Amino acid sequence: MFTKLLYIETFGCQMNVNDSERIVSMLADLGYAPTNEAAVADMILLNTCSVRGGAEEKVYNRLANLRIYKRDGKQQIIAVGGCVAQQEGEELLRKLPYLDLVIGTHNLHLLPDMVRGAERGERRSETSFIDNDQRLDLFPSIKGESRLSRFVTVMQGCDNFCSYCIVPFVRGREISRRSADILTEVAQLAYEGVREVILLGQNVNSYGLKTVGEPTFPELIRQVAEISGIDRIRFTTSHPKDMSDELIACFGDVPKLAGQIHLPAQSGSDAVLKLMGRGYTRDSYLDKVAKLKSVRPGIVFTGDIIVGFPGETDDDFEATLSLMEEVRYIDLFSFVYSPRPGTKAAELHDDLPKKVKMARLDRLMELQRRHTRDICQPYIGSVVNVLVEGEGKLPGQISGKADIGRIVNFSGDSALIGSFVDVRITKAYPNSLLGERV
Ligand code: SF4
Repeated sequence: MFTKLLYIETFGCQMNVNDSERIVSMLADLGYAPTNEAAVADMILLNTCSVRGGAEEKVYNRLANLRIYKRDGKQQIIAVGGCVAQQEGEELLRKLPYLDLVIGTHNLHLLPDMVRGAERGERRSETSFIDNDQRLDLFPSIKGESRLSRFVTVMQGCDNFCSYCIVPFVRGREISRRSADILTEVAQLAYEGVREVILLGQNVNSYGLKTVGEPTFPELIRQVAEISGIDRIRFTTSHPKDMSDELIACFGDVPKLAGQIHLPAQSGSDAVLKLMGRGYTRDSYLDKVAKLKSVRPGIVFTGDIIVGFPGETDDDFEATLSLMEEVRYIDLFSFVYSPRPGTKAAELHDDLPKKVKMARLDRLMELQRRHTRDICQPYIGSVVNVLVEGEGKLPGQISGKADIGRIVNFSGDSALIGSFVDVRITKAYPNSLLGERV
């Protein structure tokens, strides 16, 4: 029975979103129900991200704002989790007397115990990395309310150490989950009515490569596709250097695999890719894109680009724009580079004025808006298959995702929620499509 309220703010990547879902489900066992209002919560948790510069400062500022909700006379718990917690550890407790808990990225399994202690007034920080044997038993099986599309963690951590990235330091080294556990979880989700799974990891493409006796990622996809009840499979995130021909082939002969892939290029310039330590060249990236387009006509790409990496010249930037012209992403996450202390790139000389970086970002975003429009407009008049996941934005509308990952809204009965429906597209917006049931 729920007797208390839990408020969570989640920052950053899908891993954190996934962790927040785990937290909600773990703390439900202690009587905490989620709330959207910090003011009424018995526990406030910030699940933080440190990928961009200034993250620690933002967390300190946000905590300072939230401390006003710490009520006198009633114990309210304030906690920090995620990558900033991992990085700062005890220091956060030392600096912030109103903070109760600091939970590192490997320590979520300790949270119920920590919360019980905090309810008695104990303050605690847990940020030690744990060894792989133990980690194998701690992969999350997320409970929570049954939904139609669910994330399933297949691996965690990263061994790539791209020069700009803090993830290997705050999430730890790469570990692949046992395939038997993954398949059991997917089968259980299918039994509960889930129709789509999204296989999740920092770099799913390297799944199983370092573990004897486990399938490779393409083999795992084929095994997941065998599970009846699961009709659509997606995965994220995918490192281009580990995108094998076997994985590309899955897009040709595993119909359940959705026709959309997130393939972060980060730059279109070989010189910058080398400085980033990405392990592929522009040509090898484009070669994989071409192969994917040929085995799955109509496949759409999303990606990440970092603008203004140290040493990025005008020519390097033009090379990124021309890569975008070749790939034509349907959506792109683009950022201005910001140094993360402790990473190799933070030691590089960065003399590009901020004004130049921002101007480059503007140009890139303008190009991306054009590509999104050019890719989405031709869908008008065509029929897409939509997994209906809930009510739409307007009364009488229902909404779901097409195979290409785009949200589609259309008029329909909520009885259709949970089924796949053919929808003719009538309008294309920057972030969604509008249609009518065929
Ligand atoms: S692949 Fe590179 S960018 Fe991605 S998490 Fe690993 S180190 Fe970071």
